[in-house]
Amino acid sequence: MKCEITRDIGAGADLIRQGELVAFATETVYGLGANALNPEAVARIFEVKQRPHFDPLIVHISNIQYLDELTYGLTEQARKLAEQFWPGPLTLVLPKRKKIPDLVTSGLDSVAIRIPAHPIARQLLEAAELPIAAPSANKFGCLSPTQASHVAEQLGSEIKLILEGGACAVGVESTVIQCTGEVPVLLRPGGISLEEIEGCVGEVRLAQIEDHAEAKSPLSPGMLPKHYAPRTRLTIADQLSDVPIEGSKGLLSLFSLEETFLKDCQFSAREILSPSGDLKIAAARLFTALRNLDAAGVDHIIALRMPEEGLGRTINNRLERAAAT
Ligand code: AMP
Ligand code: MG
Repeated sequence: MKCEITRDIGAGADLIRQGELVAFATETVYGLGANALNPEAVARIFEVKQRPHFDPLIVHISNIQYLDELTYGLTEQARKLAEQFWPGPLTLVLPKRKKIPDLVTSGLDSVAIRIPAHPIARQLLEAAELPIAAPSANKFGCLSPTQASHVAEQLGSEIKLILEGGACAVGVESTVIQCTGEVPVLLRPGGISLEEIEGCVGEVRLAQIEDHAEAKSPLSPGMLPKHYAPRTRLTIADQLSDVPIEGSKGLLSLFSLEETFLKDCQFSAREILSPSGDLKIAAARLFTALRNLDAAGVDHIIALRMPEEGLGRTINNRLERAAAT
């Protein structure tokens, strides 16, 4: 199949309405979209991504009117979060209506919904006049795509169209908050920080990766310990003094906010996420930096842990899951 990289929204919307897949830019990462109300189209997403069926998809909508059509029982906190952070990198898990096929939600009685901010995503949703189910446009478990070329590399032979929208400004996936009970639960840290969420709704419960892995019925089935991984082995160093330097000359690549300490070290590849230590910039560069290190042919990536605040928490979550075996 020949894959076209274009900004032709009309062509993308036509394909979506015909039940085909379209990859498209969002502010978080590139998505692989299908008509969320067409189970056969949604089944193709799982097939192309090689994604297990127990991992439910996020449904993207163009405006708040769709919420009533697809969900019910909006809590006060959900309303506040939607008002403050939509359009943007926030996903709300809400009680679902029957209209949404079970395949989209892996049989759960809740659905994950987001209104994206990227103009390409918004124009596609508006032109298609449909909710679009879209996980990241990569093979399951691999690094998420933050540029059209990343999508083309992995899925180019299996899809017809990629709607190009430049490099993703946020660069990490959305923050997922479950709003089905009294206290909102953070299922996945993402592009909106926990501090911002708490600032909006007060108390938030944190779901740990271990909760997901150990619970008999995981809170969020897709939160597997191993995910978002480069091909190269990755380990996390909690601080600079933990970075193994001896004997690793030329084999190690370091990936860090700090630059000074590293000047003398002999790493064969290095990625500095943000020399000024800006965690938003660091998040936006995370997946491209990991991709570069993968491409550099090193046999081990050492990642220095980020400060556990703001988007540093999100980056650490992705690093932990990249390091899991
Ligand atoms: P992705 O589409 O890969 O960004 O992942 C979306 C994630 O949101 C999934 O891996 C799930 O863990 C989570 N999610 C989606 N729908 C639900 C739901 N109904 N309940 C709980 N978690 C969900
Ligand atoms: Mg994904």
